[in-house]
Amino acid sequence: MKQIALYGKGGIGKSTTAANLSAALAGEGLDILQIGCDPKRDSTRMLMHGSWIPTVLDLIREQGDRNITTDEVVFRGFRGVRCVEAGGPEPGIGCAGRGIIATFQLLERLGALDGDVILYDVLGDVVCGGFAMPMREGYAQEVYLVTSGELMSLYAANNIAKAISRLSKRARSRCRLGGVICNAKNMEGERELVDEFARRINSAMIAYIPRDRIVQLAELHRQTVIEYAPDSGQAGVYRQLAADIIRNQRMSIPTPLEMDELESFALEFVQV
Ligand code: ADP
Ligand code: MG
Repeated sequence: MKQIALYGKGGIGKSTTAANLSAALAGEGLDILQIGCDPKRDSTRMLMHGSWIPTVLDLIREQGDRNITTDEVVFRGFRGVRCVEAGGPEPGIGCAGRGIIATFQLLERLGALDGDVILYDVLGDVVCGGFAMPMREGYAQEVYLVTSGELMSLYAANNIAKAISRLSKRARSRCRLGGVICNAKNMEGERELVDEFARRINSAMIAYIPRDRIVQLAELHRQTVIEYAPDSGQAGVYRQLAADIIRNQRMSIPTPLEMDELESFALEFVQV
């Protein structure tokens, strides 16, 4: 079983990438479990054709965690991908990371953490507590950083690289960086910038995903691009990413940058 995590800044395109990746992997006949670890709880929505599945945290709040069954938290979406949403606290109270911890504990007790690939879709703005859990407790062995060329999304990616680097020093930790995924914002020099960022943190850019309106069109039709426009170039990009991740052997311990280093080299690319 392969366990991978996609981390990145909020709104950068993690869930879009994750859902299309799951759909592409399922198209290869693999049994996929996608776990949304973001209080936004929409990781699996396109796989579920627009429906908001109940979150683990909602269920625990309503009925405690003792009586919850697998069927109440794991839902089958497009191509049989199994979908779970951790959920988040009620606004203003509680800790968002709690939902992730509770989700892992529950899925483990239910014996539901199985399949050929488990894909964790994790908010990476804060790498504390629950948000670090997928990489901290030996679940995800491969982390992929989703970023654009914008400074704040590189900043978030760099922070996650710091967390991986720190965790990799633990004797039992198998968490490694699998690569950087550039989900483009169509900035000038963006591809080169993200490619260089990946190199500087001792990794590689594993994919360049163009910004394409087919993504919004698919979203409006409540589908992944893989389902809505299987013959499009964008669907091809997601399928290629799936193939590259499956055979990826290049795992590294990242070397994160200092903030001023990040700023000054980003400036070089923006000024070109
Ligand atoms: P995250 O999960 O990181 O918060 P989402 O996957 O929800 O981000 O993406 C945020 C928005 O950006 C969505 O409305 C999505 O349709 C759009 N988006 C993501 N990737 C692309 C892309 N490659 N091209 C066009 N729009 C995109
Ligand atoms: Mg998301």
